[in-house]
Amino acid sequence: PGHLYVVATPIGNLGDLSPRAQAVLRGVDRICAEDTRTSGSLLAHFGIQRPLSPLHEHNEDRAVADVLAQLREGRAVAVISDAGTPLISDPGFVLVRAAREAGIPVIAVPGPCAAIAALSLAGLPSDAFCFAGFLPHKQSARRERLRELGGLPQTLIFYESSHRIAETLDDLVAELGPERRVCLAREITKRFEQSVLLPASELVAWLAADSNRGRGEFVLVIEGAPAASAGKTEQLRLLRVLLKELS
Ligand code: SAM
Repeated sequence: PGHLYVVATPIGNLGDLSPRAQAVLRGVDRICAEDTRTSGSLLAHFGIQRPLSPLHEHNEDRAVADVLAQLREGRAVAVISDAGTPLISDPGFVLVRAAREAGIPVIAVPGPCAAIAALSLAGLPSDAFCFAGFLPHKQSARRERLRELGGLPQTLIFYESSHRIAETLDDLVAELGPERRVCLAREITKRFEQSVLLPASELVAWLAADSNRGRGEFVLVIEGAPAASAGKTEQLRLLRVLLKELS
């Protein structure tokens, strides 16, 4: 059978398309792209001309059937998304799962990923983290998600857009408290790249102080729940054990 390559593309700086990614994209029989126009201009920049076909959430099932047929004929196919690593808050999962189920080798060509880039610059513990993609758009659901995840001791990572960044920071203060430290990283690898690490309430003020700070693409990296609350859980457990012994 053929091979399916999962290829990461730049998240802003075209210099981040690796030599290996370029070689793989040049060599495959077909490139599946989230948006063929966006990827068309990326590929044109590198002088790569391969057949492009769309793969997005609205056509994924049908597109996957076509691609699988090609892979079974021994063709090599690459999947890319508009930016960064496919499957990470981007299309590709249905295709990768299907290829694996069909016994077709799946090969990663790793590269940029906004979540990992933000974690690497945040200055928050990086030994264990929880990436949770985009928060829900509706405030009640967003707050509930923050409550669910806010007690985890691991560093939390979310993607956010300029439309909701201010409300999301307000919700962070409300659900996780004003002291919880949050790193906001915007426009990573781009001209107006900026990142700050501040307690949540100070980050709200930082964002409000300059309207340019609310523009572009964002990653939020949030400090895990303080050890004190983890400690409290342990104390409560011990108390329960003791109470049981006493009763
Ligand atoms: N697959 C991509 C990846 O590997 O990072 C993520 C795709 S997701 C649809 C797009 C979101 O990623 C944006 O809304 C933003 O939260 C984040 N993002 C992408 N590029 C970014 C950048 N250059 N700086 C900061 N955040 C970015």
